[in-house]
Amino acid sequence: MLNLSGKKALITGVANKRSIAWAIAQAMHEAGCELAFTYQTERLEAGVRKLGDSLGVAHYYELDVTNEAHFTRLAKGLEGDLGSLDYALHSIAFANKEAFDNPFHEISETDFLQAHQISAYSLIPLCRSLRHLLGQGDGGSVLAMTYFGAEKVVPMYSLMGVAKASLEVTARYLANDLGPDGIRVNCLSAGPVRTLAAAGIPGFRELMRKSEHVMPLRRHITTEEVAHAAAFLLANTGITGEVTHVDAGFNILAAEGQGATD
Ligand code: NAP
Repeated sequence: MLNLSGKKALITGVANKRSIAWAIAQAMHEAGCELAFTYQTERLEAGVRKLGDSLGVAHYYELDVTNEAHFTRLAKGLEGDLGSLDYALHSIAFANKEAFDNPFHEISETDFLQAHQISAYSLIPLCRSLRHLLGQGDGGSVLAMTYFGAEKVVPMYSLMGVAKASLEVTARYLANDLGPDGIRVNCLSAGPVRTLAAAGIPGFRELMRKSEHVMPLRRHITTEEVAHAAAFLLANTGITGEVTHVDAGFNILAAEGQGATD
């Protein structure tokens, strides 16, 4: 079993008990890692604290990734509270729900830019602001959550697929940029999981129902499986710039099998 005792991790993206970030936080906690959480707005703080407190989380920071000042405050807070950081999880995505109602070529500039700002660009200020705290000791690492729609066309995922493609390439460039500082940057491409963010994607339930029968494992992944892979990727000191799939093998199928998503 992974031993993360003495390590410190920042977890973003916990919205509720269904959040992938919550499963990852639990796996990291079980491995002995000290955790700090972010919440997006004061309105959501109490819910995030309730979950975090059950894992003994002592430090919480407001982080709306569209607010540059929040990154500065986050880094200052972490520096004062923890001194250094070993791991950071980026588990954040957003796109205007209405953007999925129209064909992809109808997407507005506003919706396109907003999805990219929150879901992809945000990885850059996260790394930039935490750079001086990561990379000490064994070196630090950052992990971002992505989905197969970044690689191949999954029609219902449309705008978010383009944002995830940007996220994955951004992670590669960051990995090259920050590698000399001992900082690794990776992505985990998870199969579909029923969460709040997923509920905003029309056709998501249908995707899950249809794809189950063609998956090599003939079942969907569990958040626990994603969480254990995430903890491993954060901790492993030899992997950087990778996109690792935890998707019951869905990504290896040729188009006929993936046609289940049409
Ligand atoms: P989730 O529980 O809804 O998590 C999404 C998180 O993004 C929420 O905590 C949300 O905060 C946060 N967020 C949105 N806008 C933000 C902003 N401006 N600033 C800071 N945080 C913001 O859903 P999830 O499925 O676990 O998603 C986590 C990650 O996994 C996302 O990157 C998602 O694309 C990825 N992923 C999900 C699946 C899936 O099937 N569910 C598959 C592959 C990858 P609030 O709730 O407070 O707004």
